[in-house]
Amino acid sequence: MENPTAKSLFRTEMIDYARSRNPTQRKGLKAGLIFLAFAIVAPLLLIELPLVAAGIVVFETMRVAFYICWFALVAAAIVVTVRSIVRPTRRVTCWKCNYGQDIFADIRKYVCTECGNLTLLGNDKMLVPQLSDCPYCGLRTAVTSDYGIFVCSNCGVSRDSEKAVAPQLERPCPRCGTRLPNEAFFCSSCSQTILAGFHRRVDFAFLERLYLRLGNDLRYMRWGQTEPWDAGRDASGHLIYARAILDSIESVLPKAEKINVLGRCLLALANALVAVEDVLLDSPNNSMLPGVLHRVDEIYSGVLAAELRLLDLEVDVSSRLDVGSAPKPKYPLVDLRVLIDEPHITARKRIENRISKLDGYSGGPGSWQERLLKVTVVDEGKAGIIEDFSKVRDEAQRFTDWRLHHPATELG
Ligand SMILES: [Zn+2]
Ligand SMILES: [Zn+2]
Ligand SMILES: [Zn+2]
Repeated sequence: MENPTAKSLFRTEMIDYARSRNPTQRKGLKAGLIFLAFAIVAPLLLIELPLVAAGIVVFETMRVAFYICWFALVAAAIVVTVRSIVRPTRRVTCWKCNYGQDIFADIRKYVCTECGNLTLLGNDKMLVPQLSDCPYCGLRTAVTSDYGIFVCSNCGVSRDSEKAVAPQLERPCPRCGTRLPNEAFFCSSCSQTILAGFHRRVDFAFLERLYLRLGNDLRYMRWGQTEPWDAGRDASGHLIYARAILDSIESVLPKAEKINVLGRCLLALANALVAVEDVLLDSPNNSMLPGVLHRVDEIYSGVLAAELRLLDLEVDVSSRLDVGSAPKPKYPLVDLRVLIDEPHITARKRIENRISKLDGYSGGPGSWQERLLKVTVVDEGKAGIIEDFSKVRDEAQRFTDWRLHHPATELG
């Protein structure tokens, strides 16, 4: 039996992140005092005392300059510390879990550090957040009336904190023809995702850059991507988000001519899976879940097939160039990083453990092989040579067989 207060990978990390962002006075004061102590002691211990101990005579002007810098540092630390005391705060009570907290009044997007719920706060700290329903998708968001325009976490449509304005219906849904707001990334009558709206919010290349900079860490990847926009979604929002990502990957895959595109696809797949996990926790009996998960596995199968196709092609080309001792092709390591790490596998396994008990789930491919590429790093860590990709071939074949025997019964 699932723990009812269980939090998804995303939510746990989001709450950790919210806690680490110093929203309270006590944390701000602590950081200020640490800075102050450092400002007073460090110049003394690192510069002044060693000079005296070594008997080095410093010119008078240099000594004066040193003291001026030191005092400036201490003054800055005092300003930071005092600011943390006088910086105005406001009391925020989460409408979902009732947890109350004093946070700095200039925080505009407050993520509850207990449940991960989002509250949008305007300038006037006397105003209490009210619940406002999205006129397009119905998502309930806590927002103060002076906040202004904000983007709906579920559907991407701009909303007004003061009044519910019906969005302008500017274009027809490509599937059912119903007119939709320009920004919406799904059709509320037939559930079709609209990529044009969605791509404005999720940029694969941006995701990848962040990942490469910060390493294999889903938290920063997700937070860097959209920040608190991610936090305000409910189960149906997470489902829309997951399906929109899957549609994006599907639109990119057939055009993939370089291996780095596949890395982006796996990164996006990991994000889709984390969203699926959120759906699973919020509404475990959601009838869309088995279908969406089936599509996740189908798309992964597509990524594997594309990877195999590109790698085979490279081997083919290089062996034709130089008969006999064909050198293996070199790839920039940044292009291989995600394919080596396979960040989606962890998320997929977590979901498999939860979903295997659900009704209507026929079982996925069963197992997920990791470390499919055997890579040797060359050129001082800048490039990689793929020594062996036979595991990619085996996995691609296994997934193709699985797809043949388990066609999708219902579109996710
Ligand atoms: Zn809460
Ligand atoms: Zn909405
Ligand atoms: Zn439609």
